[in-house]
Amino acid sequence: MTSRLLYEFKRKLEELESYKGKGTELITLYIPPDKNIADIANQLREELSQAQNIKSKQTRTNVSAGLEAILNRLKQYRKPPEHGMVIISGVVNVNGREKHITEIIEPPEPVPIYKYHCDSTFYLEPLKDMLREKKLYGLIVIDRREATVGILKGRRIEVLNSDTSMVPGKHRQGGQSSVRFERLREIAIHEFYKKVGDMATESLLPYKDQLLGIVIGGPSPTKEEFFEGNYLHHELQRKVLALVDVGYTDESGLYELVEKAKDILEEADLIREKKLMQRFMSEVAKDGLAAYGESEVRYYLQMGAVDILLLSEDLRYERVRYRCPKCGNEKELTLKENIEKQIVCEKDGIAMEEVGRRDIVLELSEIAESMGSRVEFLSTESEEGEVLFKAFGGIAAILRFKPTGNKQQ
Ligand SMILES: [Zn+2]
Repeated sequence: MTSRLLYEFKRKLEELESYKGKGTELITLYIPPDKNIADIANQLREELSQAQNIKSKQTRTNVSAGLEAILNRLKQYRKPPEHGMVIISGVVNVNGREKHITEIIEPPEPVPIYKYHCDSTFYLEPLKDMLREKKLYGLIVIDRREATVGILKGRRIEVLNSDTSMVPGKHRQGGQSSVRFERLREIAIHEFYKKVGDMATESLLPYKDQLLGIVIGGPSPTKEEFFEGNYLHHELQRKVLALVDVGYTDESGLYELVEKAKDILEEADLIREKKLMQRFMSEVAKDGLAAYGESEVRYYLQMGAVDILLLSEDLRYERVRYRCPKCGNEKELTLKENIEKQIVCEKDGIAMEEVGRRDIVLELSEIAESMGSRVEFLSTESEEGEVLFKAFGGIAAILRFKPTGNKQQ
């Protein structure tokens, strides 16, 4: 996905996030790519008849209108688009006016769940998840008949390429010399390994900087022969974390591989977190190129001084913008998710209005992106990740340089 599309997708999510319904009347419908449209329509008609029992007249009317609008939109589809879609519908407040909106979002990645959700806000978590940087691993499964190359992105497996071989079976035809047969068979096997190596290189090399590692699966001794024969590009070869026994070498083999290599992948990820935190801590210890805490990191980010932004996956804060209705002065604050606060204009002594609210992870990573800073998300499952979350507030940075002058607070 291009960065412009990504940006537009982000902006769209932010817009939807800002909407609030008066009651539980904003509908979000997640449709994965393989879902049957007729089944969905049936379920929505069922919801529509149940909506007649809603006590509040306004909520009842709005939910029904939302469901009817979605049913109408669904008529234009015989099957979901390539990545599935998310349909939102409801009555929202836009610049002080109530307006019924219905929109179809085709996200950059496949919709992972089927879900009908009705609440006072739109349900956007699975879409926001798509924006978080994914951990990538290369996957190869191979036996002498077949090979499949894939990539693990977060929790999702994508098949990149596959091929089958011309290697003859172990049993020769009558009349062939067994020595000659074995020789031909070995040549065919070598040719197949070479082909798979080229295929894997072509598919995975573009990701080489992001790949945390590669795992190779298959029966013995095939996978060992493939690995030891150096059929992979040397930059990929040194990323190989492990060879794992799996029974299948088609797409299902990739799933089997990820399942069996779970601990290895988790460990590789923990090692990555460990290394990042060690680098950060050593800078902190010598009062060097490190910053932590939201206001300090934000200051360095905006100056373009951040090399790597370290964010805790468990951060649940929002950046809230207020405006004075009288003088128009604006103020920004960081608050815990879904917390509201009364802010008074210092000049006029009257309450300021909330005019915007964004997930702080999105907000900070967007600044980072525009400044060319790398963003790394750390879980709180590792000791190091926990230190980032508890001791440094979940927001820290390794700096490119340390600007002189006073820090803005
Ligand atoms: Zn004011």
